[in-house]
Amino acid sequence: MTAAGAATEACPACGADAGHLLDWAYSGLGDSVFNYTADFFACGSCGLVYASNIDDARLASFYTGECSYFEKPHFSVTAPANLEKYAFYARMLREHGVTATDMADVGCGRGGFVRTLAGSGWGGRLWGIDVDVRSLADDEVPDAVSFRAGDALHLPFEHGSLGLLTYFHVLEHIRDLDGVLAEAARVLRPGGHLLVEVPDAEHYRSLPVGTAFWFSIREHVNHFTAAALASAMRRHGFSVVTVSRQVLPTPEFSYPSLMLLATRADGPVTAVEMAGDVAGFALESKGALERQAREIASLAEGGSLTVWGCSAELFSLLPLLDLDRVRLCDASPLKQAARYKGLPIGRPGDMPVEGMLVVAPYLHRNAIGKAARELGWPERAIYLLE
Ligand SMILES: [Zn+2]
Repeated sequence: MTAAGAATEACPACGADAGHLLDWAYSGLGDSVFNYTADFFACGSCGLVYASNIDDARLASFYTGECSYFEKPHFSVTAPANLEKYAFYARMLREHGVTATDMADVGCGRGGFVRTLAGSGWGGRLWGIDVDVRSLADDEVPDAVSFRAGDALHLPFEHGSLGLLTYFHVLEHIRDLDGVLAEAARVLRPGGHLLVEVPDAEHYRSLPVGTAFWFSIREHVNHFTAAALASAMRRHGFSVVTVSRQVLPTPEFSYPSLMLLATRADGPVTAVEMAGDVAGFALESKGALERQAREIASLAEGGSLTVWGCSAELFSLLPLLDLDRVRLCDASPLKQAARYKGLPIGRPGDMPVEGMLVVAPYLHRNAIGKAARELGWPERAIYLLE
């Protein structure tokens, strides 16, 4: 935890001075760990933007207790979008001569990537590491693949025992970057490789899912630049081999991807270019959400306000609205069983058609808007968050 009111602190990626950027009020259902206001800091040197006042123990209780990552289509090992991604990762390793070595994919989800490598004749032992791997035992697992429980700060491997560690969408979730990279340096053999992928925060702007989409993802505590990741790696004895930016698919949307391949060895310092202003984008995202909250309040003109869809962006919008006038609904029975700061969550079809309707989820707004019109909500009363 950061000392309250600290003006600057050491950037967790590069160690230079990071200063307060903005506050972002999150919220969540029931006693969610995200009922808090994140204090975002920005580093003037490497460009990292991060939530300074949450720690990994608190975040861990979100993954085990609150979210159902495993069930999401995002982690389906057969979705064509995911297969395309795994093939891209495998190709990148092959192009840099990284193959036929014992490796572990940290934060492996349902193990899609290690299964893909096994299917393509990798030629080394493959491990999938995740916090909870019990549910993976039910699936059919290729001979070369094993799953083990562990997390990025505590890998279940001996010193210098592996030739490759991969981390796809892991580092943006962890505050203790030093802990992760020190653990990677411990487990890798000299000359072993580290492949890290995170969302490319320098290109958030180029693929707009919604104005506040990226900063509404409450569990993303780091918003990385390539320079930030490269600095953090260098401080732990890694040399960056290559920096790669691309647009990659998920089953639900495409995203800007940033990948760094590094090796546990001395090497030339690879030049890393700055491609975007993450702090500026964070300020714009917050401004856009605040503007929409003001518009909603003014359009509702003191009448009732029904909000459809308990999505991440809703949990950033609600702290900006007057809850006295808000009714919540969601089609998911799981969400209907929860409460938001004491407010019940109804079935959309049971909500009185009066006042204004706000459709919160960016990814499903058109489908929800259509369903709302079918329930009799007039077009002029529907506000789609954008
Ligand atoms: Zn920095």
